[in-house]
Amino acid sequence: MKNSDASSEMKFDGRALINGVRRAATSGATFDCVSPVDGRVLTQVARCDQSDVDDAVAAARAAFEDSRWRGKAPAQRKRIMIAFADQLLKHADELALTETLDMGKPVKYSRAVDVNSAANCLRWYGEAVDKIYDEIAPTASTGLALITREPVGVVGVIVPWNYPMIMAAWKIAPALAAGNSVVLKPSEKSPLTALRLAELALEAGIPPGVFNVVPGFGPEAGSPLALHMDVDCIAFTGSTRVGKQIHVMAGQSNLKRAWTELGGKSPNIVFADCPDLDRAVEAAVGSIFFNQGESCNAPSRLYVEASIKEAFLEKALALVPGYAPANPLDPATVMGAIVDRTQMNSVLRYIELGKSEGAKLLAGGEQALVASGGCYVQPTIFDGVKNEMTIAREEIFGPVLSVLSFTDAADVVRQANASVYGLQAAVWTRDINKAHGVARALRAGTVHVNQYDEDDITVPFGGFKQSGVGRDKSLHAFDKYTETKTTWIRIDSPV
Ligand code: NAD
Repeated sequence: MKNSDASSEMKFDGRALINGVRRAATSGATFDCVSPVDGRVLTQVARCDQSDVDDAVAAARAAFEDSRWRGKAPAQRKRIMIAFADQLLKHADELALTETLDMGKPVKYSRAVDVNSAANCLRWYGEAVDKIYDEIAPTASTGLALITREPVGVVGVIVPWNYPMIMAAWKIAPALAAGNSVVLKPSEKSPLTALRLAELALEAGIPPGVFNVVPGFGPEAGSPLALHMDVDCIAFTGSTRVGKQIHVMAGQSNLKRAWTELGGKSPNIVFADCPDLDRAVEAAVGSIFFNQGESCNAPSRLYVEASIKEAFLEKALALVPGYAPANPLDPATVMGAIVDRTQMNSVLRYIELGKSEGAKLLAGGEQALVASGGCYVQPTIFDGVKNEMTIAREEIFGPVLSVLSFTDAADVVRQANASVYGLQAAVWTRDINKAHGVARALRAGTVHVNQYDEDDITVPFGGFKQSGVGRDKSLHAFDKYTETKTTWIRIDSPV
């Protein structure tokens, strides 16, 4: 069956999942879940508020206190986490189609990237959890100091809409594997796969109450979670604007641990001695247009050394037609729909700002596929961008590339670091000294050298500066969801 036919027959359940049970919001309120593919309403989603969040947190707390999950041996949790991952793969086609309909990304990627990465993440943390040892401190022989890791308790998770399953998995996988209970609030723009994940977790054997999902809007369902006195940790991915509020809410309430993965405006620096110009061009263009540019780590500021800029741009422009937006349900499509009309209009506003501030529009710049009823923007490239222009400073979160130039390493490091963000960066050069020197000078959580999209669950992901606090992925993520406890034992040696 073709994806478009299959999708028209799909039925979605937008009710919350609290304590193992699907249910409407206590208020009975719902909101429309609208597909950006063509504007159709997919379903009604529970509009959760304080009272539903209270119920979900109470369920999570009860599950934590009676040890139904954290009391299981790590090897048992491992088996269930792996079964959870297998459930995602078993339902991969359904999850991929749901993700595509809900947020507009090409089904080719929601299947090959989103479902697979989310499943791999759940499996990886499951497999890790029975291989981590605690410590004994090197103290004097009169005492024994055990340093153990314990789950923090109830973890609130708030995620954005750009990679709904992956962003959720990066947090729920280490949090659950470590033995915590979770209350997840997905984005109101893409709530459907999160609700399915919680059902699949139950089917895999995660006990009721351990993983709850409360869909709804930020101020109505997100804030009550971040402000909740019985939530021990809030793990947030989203904008820097809301991330700052999350830290305030943690401080205003119970000083819960607050971890934030926020925005980016990543610089991609190409020196004239780049070892492979074609590869650099493909990475620059492919990475900014991947996921319609709705990636926190998209290399949205491209710095090309002045002497090769013309040649670089000629090659880049030749690639642009290959990224023309098309129906995301078509398996051949590489650029899909922007998540909703609000985001599309925001991207188009930035494009107008770029023009009015004097940048030169080289490609795109318009809404696309208007007759579809969906939300599409042409892949857009601006040349002649200056660091002080709005399109070089603010995160656009759409398929818009700003091209700037530079004269030498010192000049480009100064320009690249002149940002409130510090999520990722890249440097392309065949000179090992320049690569190391520039990589060290760049203020970013990840620096790529001669590539852009290498990624793996084994490496930490997160930002410097206002790109956030803490790291997702890798074993480091366990630090966010565990407390470190010291237990001193006195030893009165008989010998
Ligand atoms: P957003 O900040 O608007 O929303 C993120 C989540 O926060 C949503 O679930 C939303 O409902 C919720 N929220 C909004 N207001 C809230 C409030 N007052 N209290 C509590 N929760 C609230 O961000 P978005 O538009 O969904 O996502 C795009 C942003 O996410 C971009 O800035 C992007 O860079 C960032 N992002 C960062 C990473 C990373 O790992 N650093 C990854 C993906 C996305």
